[in-house]
Amino acid sequence: MLFSELGLGPDVLRAIEDKGYTQPTPIQEQAIPWVLQGRDVLGCAQTGTGKTASFTLPMIDILASGRARARMPRSLILEPTRELAAQVAESFETYGKHHKLSMALLIGGETFTEQVKRLDRGVDVLIATPGRLIDLFERGNIMLNDIKVFVIDEADRMLDMGFIPDIERIVSKLPRMRQTLFFSATMPPEIRRLADAFLMNPKEVTVAPPASPSETVTQAMALVHEEDKRKALRHLLRTEDVKNAFIFCNRKRDVAILQKSLESHGFNAGALHGDMVQSKRTETLEAFKKGEITLLVCSDVAARGLDVQGLSHVFNFDVPVSAEDYVHRIGRTGRAGKTGRAFTLASPLDGKQVAAISRLIKREIPLIAIDGLESAEFLSEDEARRGRGGRGRGKERDRERDRERDKAPRERGEREEKAAREERAPREERQPREERQPREERQPREERQPRESIAAAESRRPDPRRERDRDRDRDRGDRRRRRDEDEDDTPVIGFGDHMPAFMLRSARRPMAAEPAAETIEQSSQEG
Ligand code: AMP
Repeated sequence: MLFSELGLGPDVLRAIEDKGYTQPTPIQEQAIPWVLQGRDVLGCAQTGTGKTASFTLPMIDILASGRARARMPRSLILEPTRELAAQVAESFETYGKHHKLSMALLIGGETFTEQVKRLDRGVDVLIATPGRLIDLFERGNIMLNDIKVFVIDEADRMLDMGFIPDIERIVSKLPRMRQTLFFSATMPPEIRRLADAFLMNPKEVTVAPPASPSETVTQAMALVHEEDKRKALRHLLRTEDVKNAFIFCNRKRDVAILQKSLESHGFNAGALHGDMVQSKRTETLEAFKKGEITLLVCSDVAARGLDVQGLSHVFNFDVPVSAEDYVHRIGRTGRAGKTGRAFTLASPLDGKQVAAISRLIKREIPLIAIDGLESAEFLSEDEARRGRGGRGRGKERDRERDRERDKAPRERGEREEKAAREERAPREERQPREERQPREERQPREERQPRESIAAAESRRPDPRRERDRDRDRDRGDRRRRRDEDEDDTPVIGFGDHMPAFMLRSARRPMAAEPAAETIEQSSQEG
């Protein structure tokens, strides 16, 4: 199929030609005609599939007629990270070069003044991260009641990052008559429910199953002891023909530590994580794109969706907590028909996560040995829960088993319960004892409700929320733990205190009364 068959206007087609694209990607082919018809779209697509252009190209055409009013943007695109927001802005600049659309990028870490000035002049396209948008909204710098097209990108990542309450607030300020485009790399039930709440009779477009690593990426895994991981990484970096690579860590604090360690061993490495000021993040990314930095140590959130052309390698310094992240990570390489290599460093404690990845990608990741390093083996789940992954644990394990056998069953039961609790919140992620609220700061005993009455009240009260939470816990499992990566190191449980409205609605809504065509008609009239 040709771009000219999708219904795009001549100026957009000219920009596409200037960019050198010859054929639309499958998501573009499927989504663009519906977007141009004014329909809501529910797109299941990963980054790297051409998803950004699938909404920016038709939006440029839709917004081409009409004028923006001060502080009243005509379209809104929400992105989970600043880098993704900046990438979408770039895409509007590239494809909108023959149009006169005005655009504003509202992202955290940059001064309000310039952003407010832009809004005052009126913008056609507003690209924002949820937090900064809400800040500006609350200061009265922005009104959302003229939004014609609303895009939620990377919805699953928004959910992981705890942005859903913010997004619900934002949606409640938007006009009901609007076109909504909703994209997510995966479609777990909570995302579907969210889509049901925000979209009207959407057209669903799906490209590639949610978790299929590209065939152009060669994968391998080294199973080493935790304390050997840095050595293993250095070995791989020295023996592989690395042109440029992302090196993923699960925690932002490890990103900085690993980057310093690599630098001290003479590697040209930068770091990218959510604690860095925006100017430093942008500078580092630019240096990496220009080849001034060869290795970029990063967290999932900071690097999600980053489009760096021709990345030769991806290294997982840590096995990702979520199997889906494995696919996202290694998908940074082997793009656009090029080949790439992805190496994962697993430690004995990672057996469960590695098994989850194998299930998802429907194959085993080939194991490799690292010269000069002792290969390790995965611990059983029970051993992993107790956090024992060091060397020479064979004999110790046997002794422990003997001791276990002798213990009274009751005691064992208590221990297992504790271990299960620890599995939910790993020791290192829990607040250290001294940081917890001191006793005297807690509510005085007499003001607290007696234990029995709380328990009794809870057992009397039917609580569908708790049921749902339990299901969700099971579904989402470890994904929740990842939330700490960029914004906060404290694990957030579920939605925190907030119960999003969409969770309280039934999964299926009746069909929308307004035909989608009216939305577009209204858009052009009002615009
Ligand atoms: P995205 O999934 O939006 O992150 O896009 C991934 C990459 O594909 C970006 O570098 C785009 O510039 C590129 N791209 C988007 N559409 C096309 C196309 N039709 N042909 C070739 N490359 C494209």
